[in-house]
Amino acid sequence: MIRSLLILLFGAAAVLSPAVTLAQQASFRVLAFYTSKGEPDHIAFAEQALPFFAQLARKNNFYFESTTRWEALNAEKLKSFQLVLWINDFPTNAVQRAAFQDYMKHGGAWLGFHVSAYNDDSTRWPWFVDFLGGGVFYGNNWPPLPAKLIVDERSHPVTHHLPDTFTSPANEWYIWKPSPRLNKHVKVLLTLDPKNYPIGLKDTIVGGDLPVVWTNTRYRMIYMNMGHGDKIFVSNEQNKLFEDAILWLGTHK
Ligand code: ZN
Repeated sequence: MIRSLLILLFGAAAVLSPAVTLAQQASFRVLAFYTSKGEPDHIAFAEQALPFFAQLARKNNFYFESTTRWEALNAEKLKSFQLVLWINDFPTNAVQRAAFQDYMKHGGAWLGFHVSAYNDDSTRWPWFVDFLGGGVFYGNNWPPLPAKLIVDERSHPVTHHLPDTFTSPANEWYIWKPSPRLNKHVKVLLTLDPKNYPIGLKDTIVGGDLPVVWTNTRYRMIYMNMGHGDKIFVSNEQNKLFEDAILWLGTHK
């Protein structure tokens, strides 16, 4: 009886083990780049973002790695990652920029937050401006404030768990010129509700089209303007947006 029970147990283990191995294998791999230098509010965001994404990785069975070493933005390293995150910085080095362009042109995916898309006359990276949809940084509100956002496109996999509108926690909002919405390849997913205007005290945005989350459909990419300060992860709705963006970028072809 015991012997037959043992055979049954071992037999079950032999049948189950391949499934267990498959379940433990990460479905995709994410590499996050960040900096721990510079603007304290951007560092505060990174300090909360890293454990948040690590917890999402455990929940959704993907592999998550983070680094402050932007030299890792090279072909050899990137080839084993399906998705790259820029949490609070962007590359200034020509070799790293070229490696990123090559990665994106060959099917890599990118999720960028807040200052990672910052660009002005001093940035000197026209490919990146085009990648973002053509918008150059034009202005911001100060201090950071919560804002009501409109979900433009609720049928998209990244936004399908969101209500029509929701209040996004305190953030420094950027406005871009021209608006990325004017680019025919850009699909805007979330927009700052014009009812928020004027927004700011020291620096005020008084009007204009302010897309907050968008994708350039020529690439596997999403940009999100959230990412300033330590309040970003207090909204369950917004946290779900982050999760859905990672899952979509990590798995869609
Ligand atoms: Zn900021």
